[in-house]
Amino acid sequence: MIDLPHWHRRPGAASGGPIVIFDIDGVLSDARPRQHHLRGGSPDWHNFFSDGIHDQPLTAGVALAKVIAVPIVAVSARPNHVHTDTVEWLEREGVPFDLVITRPDGDQRSSSEFKAAELAALRQAGYEVVLALDDDPANVAMYRDHGVEALYIHSGYYDIDLGWDSESGS
Ligand SMILES: [Mg+2]
Repeated sequence: MIDLPHWHRRPGAASGGPIVIFDIDGVLSDARPRQHHLRGGSPDWHNFFSDGIHDQPLTAGVALAKVIAVPIVAVSARPNHVHTDTVEWLEREGVPFDLVITRPDGDQRSSSEFKAAELAALRQAGYEVVLALDDDPANVAMYRDHGVEALYIHSGYYDIDLGWDSESGS
């Protein structure tokens, strides 16, 4: 079984086979009240992430996680130093995760680059990713580019161009 330092596996977690990837911020947790840390000249990422323990759950995402009959892997670009808070929050809200993956501290890659690498690592470890949910359109596109069906969840944190031509109505 492959385990990496930033992978936090629940006892008895699936060691391979089908999984669904859930993003956390904007899919399971409501990060809107901490967006103010990112506004202005210099984003305060430290307080943005450390305040995550106080997030309210997003009803739709948590409800879906509770009924899905495939093991859940939460893949978040949150830094690894908040993994304890993250696991505590997921347990508090009753999200039935098997594995939580956070970003190694100091990792400067974009969210999409990080998540693409974790997708490859999960596949290398013997997991089959059957679906991914994310509120970042760039991540949804990345998953689809890598052959994973992905659902876009609208959190309002990102602008999205749905590609509709308003004049033709198509
Ligand atoms: Mg997100």
